[in-house]
Amino acid sequence: MIIAIDFDGTIVEHAYPKIGKPIPFAIETLQQIQKDGHKLILWTVRRGQLLQDAVDYCAERGLYFYAENENYRGENKEMKENVARKLNADLYIDDRNLGGLPDWGVIYNAVKATEAGINALPLMAGQLTLQQTKAKKPRWLRAIGIR
Ligand SMILES: [Mg+2]
Repeated sequence: MIIAIDFDGTIVEHAYPKIGKPIPFAIETLQQIQKDGHKLILWTVRRGQLLQDAVDYCAERGLYFYAENENYRGENKEMKENVARKLNADLYIDDRNLGGLPDWGVIYNAVKATEAGINALPLMAGQLTLQQTKAKKPRWLRAIGIR
């Protein structure tokens, strides 16, 4: 999947235009999500040097994005624009999500559930674990090999 990821309030605590304190397990979880085969695009209101500060912060911790504020590298130049607009992503991880930002462990399980075509909401609400969520999956999904 292509996953758009916010920076301020999501990877670090809110301190814009400064860089806030790390949010526990954000970087590690995002690295694992990449290892699982997903593309991460940084999607932030930051521009210019402030964007570079965020990119550098992540790179210094070993997190590299597929692109920043664009669907692929060079898109903004091609389009001759750099305007805020929605990316073509499958998922958005943002502290302004409806319901706020869950813990990163919950986010990881929600990504796994979404990848498998399972509704992640009960899991995110703490009503079901990932295993219980999977068990509630329709039989036809299990039949085609999605576990
Ligand atoms: Mg934010």
